[in-house]
Amino acid sequence: MSKFWSPFVKTLVPYVPGEQPKLAKLVKLNTNENPYGPSPLALAAMRAELSDDLRLYPDPNSDRLKQAVAAYYGVPAAQVFVGNGSDEVLAHAFHGLFQHGQPLLFPDISYSFYPVYCGLYGIPFEPIALDNNFQIRVEDYQRPNGGIVFPNPNAPTGCLLAIEAIERLLQANPDTVVLVDEAYIDFGGVSAISLVDRYPNLLVTQTLSKSRSLAGLRVGIAVGQPDLIEALERIKNSFNSYPLDRIAIAGAAAAFDDQAYFTQTCQQVISSRDALVAQLQQQGFEVLPSAANFIFARHPQQDAAELAAGLRAHGVIVRHFKQARIEQFLRISIGTPEQNQALLDALGICLG
Ligand SMILES: *Cc1c(COP(=O)(O)O)cnc(C)c1O
Repeated sequence: MSKFWSPFVKTLVPYVPGEQPKLAKLVKLNTNENPYGPSPLALAAMRAELSDDLRLYPDPNSDRLKQAVAAYYGVPAAQVFVGNGSDEVLAHAFHGLFQHGQPLLFPDISYSFYPVYCGLYGIPFEPIALDNNFQIRVEDYQRPNGGIVFPNPNAPTGCLLAIEAIERLLQANPDTVVLVDEAYIDFGGVSAISLVDRYPNLLVTQTLSKSRSLAGLRVGIAVGQPDLIEALERIKNSFNSYPLDRIAIAGAAAAFDDQAYFTQTCQQVISSRDALVAQLQQQGFEVLPSAANFIFARHPQQDAAELAAGLRAHGVIVRHFKQARIEQFLRISIGTPEQNQALLDALGICLG
């Protein structure tokens, strides 16, 4: 704290990201990165951007990327917004669409950046408890609100809300924005983007950090009707005109164009997940049904924090949240088959 700070800064409680260890040798299953590299076509497109043209500003509208996203989803480019990671896209959505005085609703167990943005933008919020099976109950969101946000599949549970349930949520809340954060949708869900044309209150965000393996590039998108997109553009153009650099625009667009690589790597992650779930169950774990590139699991006889520490001692890092209801769970990202085997071996030792 310092006398130089604006008083408001003293009230902020920032987000704490998962560890990015400086040690290379660790099997890193703690931040849901893709175990496979980005599309070779995306890498080539980025290399091609490394030229004297970097003296020039990038396209402030990132049109090349918006067109690639629009083509991929079969929507008009006017329905697409892009930003520096979906975290930035979410921040602009909170700022531009959720400041209505009424509380923002989101699940009690959910992405921990949501309450942070509420603090940053002065948005009241009301956590809504997941049911005893850690599922979202749509009926619980029928109360006065200034907006609704949830990840689908949810994080850190991995559980998917069916598209029919999302539609009921949209119909029950026609006067506020429902933001579906689809960071993990490509690992087993159906995108709500198919509903955008029918629901002016729907905004869908996605990231290239997980299924397109570009966490280091920082690119996220939003799809919604032009009205909602314009609110995001206004915020963006009042904050940073060039959130995406030339390399990011080229790489992200090429990643969307390369459907074959995307489909293949997602499929590999999905089959590894299904195999890992079966093996963890054999070791006695209870695993929530996952539609994501991670699983959320607990062992009835082992303390989760101790297990996480034991795994780390054997070179494997997973994520543990010290939070009510989930302190006995571990969130484990899906790795390559070799990494998953290293996890199982380490668990075998820890479980004795
Ligand atoms: C990873 C993640 C994001 C952030 O993605 P970036 O594009 O890397 O900022 C957003 N929401 C959820 C639920 C996530 O897990």
